[in-house]
Amino acid sequence: MAEVKQPRLFEDKKRYKKRVSGKCVAIGVMAGVLIIFALLKLSVEICEWYSRNISSALIKAANALTGWLPFSVFEVLIYLAAALTISFLIFIIVALCRKQFKRAFNSFVDLALVVFIVGTVYGAFAILPYNRKEADIPLYQGTTELDEEAVYAMAEEYIDALNALSRSVERNKNGELIIPGGLEGLNESLQNTYEEVLTSDYFYDTDSHLKKWLWPELMSAFSISGVFFAPTAECNVCTAYYTTSVVAAAAHEMAHSKGAVREADANLVSYYIMLNSSDDLVRYVGYYTLVSDMLDFIVGVNLDPEGREELMGKLSDEYFADVRFAAQYAEKQGALGGVGSFFNDLYLKLSGLEDGTDNYSPQDEGDMVEISPGENGEAQTVLRITAFNDVKKMLVEMFYQK
Ligand SMILES: [Zn+2]
Repeated sequence: MAEVKQPRLFEDKKRYKKRVSGKCVAIGVMAGVLIIFALLKLSVEICEWYSRNISSALIKAANALTGWLPFSVFEVLIYLAAALTISFLIFIIVALCRKQFKRAFNSFVDLALVVFIVGTVYGAFAILPYNRKEADIPLYQGTTELDEEAVYAMAEEYIDALNALSRSVERNKNGELIIPGGLEGLNESLQNTYEEVLTSDYFYDTDSHLKKWLWPELMSAFSISGVFFAPTAECNVCTAYYTTSVVAAAAHEMAHSKGAVREADANLVSYYIMLNSSDDLVRYVGYYTLVSDMLDFIVGVNLDPEGREELMGKLSDEYFADVRFAAQYAEKQGALGGVGSFFNDLYLKLSGLEDGTDNYSPQDEGDMVEISPGENGEAQTVLRITAFNDVKKMLVEMFYQK
């Protein structure tokens, strides 16, 4: 290979040293800031104070910058980050091939600098909130010993309400659910519900907007139905999925923007919002999403798998059609779903959620018990719930009447 002269800068040792060491100092300072965040994160009280006073203010400020833009700034940043990383890597490889080690090292330091700047900005928004208190949602505090008949009545009423909603919501001529006001209307409806229903100071008084992507297929290829990225304060939702997923993702990402940072909290808050919405579509998606959790009471409390089947059989044709539509839409997506969940799991673990993606839905606790044999004489074992998860506690608090 022909000898290629290094640019002047890299020949001048003094200038080179000054330039690179300046950037290394900046990286060191940012690493120090990140370590301070990690130490402060150990105290729930500090995290709670920081979330309510600093994070919420940062998200409000970011929303003032990005909220009025009709596209997702986060999506644009993703493309820029990808282009930048690839350019840096090519630059470094070329420099190494030409044996321009100083130049390669300088580019590597530049790349590290960019990574640290993004990490520190993100950290300022989101590191501490991961260890704040649990989301302030009304939960049932009693034992799991519920009256069996009242449990059946609760599930039956729930299914009646779900069926009525499944028939009243707007659909197109194929019978698919539509969002009557589009994403804009959904944004307004959810914002209003959040404002009316969540009055606790726990939740941020933010107004982060729902944003759809110019290239939603990219998001869905990774099986991502939504992303809230705090530094741009945008609730990104993937419109390549069926309406039930779009509405649920919108409510979930908005919960993040209101301060429910951990996944289980964001789910819990979004479920509570959907079930309490005065918008039929949003309320329907809430009922639709939690139908299995509600039917689980029949087995987990009543130890009656047949009762569960019986209630399943009462669900409307419209409900089952929506389950099929949702599956059909999802089938076409997720070509890179494994990559998507790998990085999400890694990200959640780095954020301090030891269970990673399992954090989305904590399980009930219970004992396996044998119940009387069914018609074919085989012994059956079912889970008897001894401790409800938070979603169940919320459902009991909302729907159980003895
Ligand atoms: Zn989430």
